[in-house]
Amino acid sequence: MDPIERLTSLFQKFPGIGPRQAGRFVQFLLRSSPVIRRELIDAVQSLGGSVHQCAECMRFHTGKEKVCGICSNPKRDHASLAVVASDSDLAALERSGTYRGQYFVLGGTISLASEKTNGLRIKQLLASLPDRVKAGLNEVILAFPANPEGDATAVRIREEVYRGDASIHITALGRGLSTGSELEYADPETIKNALEGRR
Ligand SMILES: [Zn+2]
Repeated sequence: MDPIERLTSLFQKFPGIGPRQAGRFVQFLLRSSPVIRRELIDAVQSLGGSVHQCAECMRFHTGKEKVCGICSNPKRDHASLAVVASDSDLAALERSGTYRGQYFVLGGTISLASEKTNGLRIKQLLASLPDRVKAGLNEVILAFPANPEGDATAVRIREEVYRGDASIHITALGRGLSTGSELEYADPETIKNALEGRR
């Protein structure tokens, strides 16, 4: 395959990227200096070696340990567990600086078209709850994007957690977040308000 077509089709596999945007990325790289292209190659290559998935929250981290810096931090509160769709939503909650509890990255939201939960770590989440309860967990915070997929995911996780252990208090982020807004783009103040307004 022609190198331009090959790279275009690789970029098209990225979430939310269509053929036009993929083509623009390739044009950008063609116009860029060899230094930038080399940097990109190095960055992609080093993902394989130095990045690991945390055994507890499931996010990707660059530490050598099995468990990431957040999950292994003794100062973090074990009473609350925020369930988020993605690593970038977790990062957005961290940036807000107000949440001091634990996390679990579900790996996406339920697709409304197929209602499929493939690839979502619902079983792993449920399996982790008994040990978390022993460690002091009493609240699960559903922190999904304010869109129909996020809402459907919240309904499902609420049911599953309740069925697993009805004593756990289940809350959701207050909707200071405007409908359709992605957590990852929300500013820290909005996230702080959404956390404080959870119910
Ligand atoms: Zn972790």
